Amino acid sequence: MPDLALKIDVDTHPGLGQGLPRLLDCLARHRVAASVFVSMGPDNSGKAIRRLFTRKGFAKKMLRSNAVRLYGLRTALYGTLLPAPEIARSFPDALRRTVAEGHDLGIHGHDHVYWHDRVLGLSQAEVAREIDRSLDAFVDIVGTPPAGFAAPGWQCGESALAALERGPFRYHSSTRGLYPYRPRIGAVEGRLPEIPTTLPTADELLGDGVAKERLLEIYVAALGERALDVLTVHAEVEGGAHLEFFARLLERLSGRVRFRRLLDVAAEIGRGPLPVCALVQGTRPGRAGTVSCQVA
Ligand SMILES: [Zn+2]
Repeated sequence: MPDLALKIDVDTHPGLGQGLPRLLDCLARHRVAASVFVSMGPDNSGKAIRRLFTRKGFAKKMLRSNAVRLYGLRTALYGTLLPAPEIARSFPDALRRTVAEGHDLGIHGHDHVYWHDRVLGLSQAEVAREIDRSLDAFVDIVGTPPAGFAAPGWQCGESALAALERGPFRYHSSTRGLYPYRPRIGAVEGRLPEIPTTLPTADELLGDGVAKERLLEIYVAALGERALDVLTVHAEVEGGAHLEFFARLLERLSGRVRFRRLLDVAAEIGRGPLPVCALVQGTRPGRAGTVSCQVA
């Protein structure tokens, strides 16, 4: 039976307030444990969405866009016309519930938009400051530090890799790749295991022109090629407009895969030697911009 780790990224205020609870309900019904990563700081989604459009006609385009359908109009304006609300501190019970229900809870950065857009150009000290802010909020709410870190937007450069090494983390899941490894970039060789996302995300497949009805078949066909697959889902996507797809995915995979938490995978692989692989920026079909990729 192939192993599958579900990695749930929570990028936004409604993602944590509404999307994650829906996903947790669904996981509980199927008795599946997952790894959940939450952006701990402000929700600046509006800034991310604003950069997709030219300034002229921004509001009109935004009202018609997919972003508004997926995230809602309020979220599409957070950090621009509306103030940026705090994500984790607005819904501490959602974090505590995640832990109480046996999931592996980790950090998905402090300010998702800032990390996504700027991290590759930040110094190690600047990245460390972002990580420390997210850790402060996490420990305040949960009481203990997290085991895992997942870089927003799969953006992990030399300074980020070095900064993650000094934290309390036992693993990270910050890149796209084929199997767990220790990343090397520039002068930095990571000591912690990196467990990459191996499968395309649903929003990438949809963005690449795949029909919604075919998503399930594509995932079922892809499983089993590797010893371990990691699928990233988003609280704002699978916990929102595509909740039915997520429910059908769990139903279809029950009994066909062994669901693993990344925390447990990390504990297991941490005992043996891991291959060292280079990290580069690469593209993924259906996704704008570049992501950090394992050179396998
Ligand atoms: Zn994210």
